[in-house]
Amino acid sequence: MTTKTMHIGLDDTDSPRKGCTTYVAALLVEKLQRLGIEFIDYPNLVRLNPNVPWKTRGNGALCLRVKYNKSVEDEIKETVICTVEEQADLDYEGTDPGIVFFEGKRIPKEVRMFSKNAVTGVVNLDDALKLLRKFEAEAMGFKRCRGIIGGLAAVGEILQHDHTFEILAYRIPENYGFKRKVDESSIVEMDKATAPYTFNNVDQEKDRVLITPRGPDPILLGIRGETPEIVKKAFEMVRPLEPVERWVIFRTNQGTDAHLRQVRQLSEMEPYNPVIAKGIVAADPKIIPRRHVVFSIKDESAQVDCAAYEPTGALRKIARKLIAGDHVEVYGGVRAPSQSHPLTINLEKIRLLKLAPKIIYCNPVCPRCGKRLKSMGRNKGSRCENCGTKYTGLSKVEVEVEREIENTLYMTSSRSQRHLTKPFRRYGLEKSHVAPEGLIEDWYHVF
Ligand SMILES: [Zn+2]
Repeated sequence: MTTKTMHIGLDDTDSPRKGCTTYVAALLVEKLQRLGIEFIDYPNLVRLNPNVPWKTRGNGALCLRVKYNKSVEDEIKETVICTVEEQADLDYEGTDPGIVFFEGKRIPKEVRMFSKNAVTGVVNLDDALKLLRKFEAEAMGFKRCRGIIGGLAAVGEILQHDHTFEILAYRIPENYGFKRKVDESSIVEMDKATAPYTFNNVDQEKDRVLITPRGPDPILLGIRGETPEIVKKAFEMVRPLEPVERWVIFRTNQGTDAHLRQVRQLSEMEPYNPVIAKGIVAADPKIIPRRHVVFSIKDESAQVDCAAYEPTGALRKIARKLIAGDHVEVYGGVRAPSQSHPLTINLEKIRLLKLAPKIIYCNPVCPRCGKRLKSMGRNKGSRCENCGTKYTGLSKVEVEVEREIENTLYMTSSRSQRHLTKPFRRYGLEKSHVAPEGLIEDWYHVF
């Protein structure tokens, strides 16, 4: 009996009208378990760079890491291929599924680097195919095969640093497309009871539930948190009002800011590479049509635009209050320049580092009674409304007004956060250790 290890990567099986690659993984968990294989990790849900314009919806790739007896190897591969074929929306134009079978206990450094680039930047199919050849891995692509990129990226992202968990519960197929039924008050209670160890359950600002997606996909709800135990406990507190077909706990890079890369200076920024960058606000912000706020920042090397869009609510309000001279650190995706705008950072977060004094010029106060004077018109002097004295030749005075913002971190409202955005609740809970050995006893269930 020879025991082997394999990493199975999957991506791009879904479309806006049907399916979800996490569901393909959830089905495979059940099917592969029946072949007697052992899972050496929770299924990994790896979110790739959300800022590439040709991404798949949600941009999540999956990896199953398994130990098995050599005698069932062909059966494993067959099961995976058949399940993808059955579940993928192959008739949809933009759906190009890919499967990667990567053997061996350790993931080579080059493959891990490929994954890092797929999360923080842009990678292509050629690079993926070269690595697959070099390490003699097998891959299968459908149509344009783009899913092989994400499949390999999921294999290589072993989540050895900060990571989170998500329990995903799936609907029975009869209910696909209908409104999801979950007792909302139970979600609010769950959120209170499990905070801060679960996150993005509800949007505090709009009092809206976030764990249930919209759309025709098979997910009923997903709860994100710090450990497998807490997401499972949280799920037990929520009352679904429709049947659940199955649930699975995934290990993920969601909520970790894994997509953001610090640049030393603004000139290092490249389109589609999400960044953390420091700069000084170059001019007061502009509010432009469709009500987003744009301001530019500069350093010695370059000047770039930053945009806060209307749906980001809280962040947009802060952006409006910036003034020239403020020192800021900005976080977000980078949009390519076009004729109408330069290189632009689409803001996810802003940290205010040092606020410039905000000066306004106003009339002086009455030297006699201390009340602020009223101007009587250009070059006509001023008059005190209190004591009636008139003055000429008094010049305006500088007054420093209070800023309504402070040196702290601001971010988009939970409802418009990216899957990868680290929410406030996770600050201080980041993990630096390798994932614990072994899985909890019940990490998935089929009803
Ligand atoms: Zn007066």
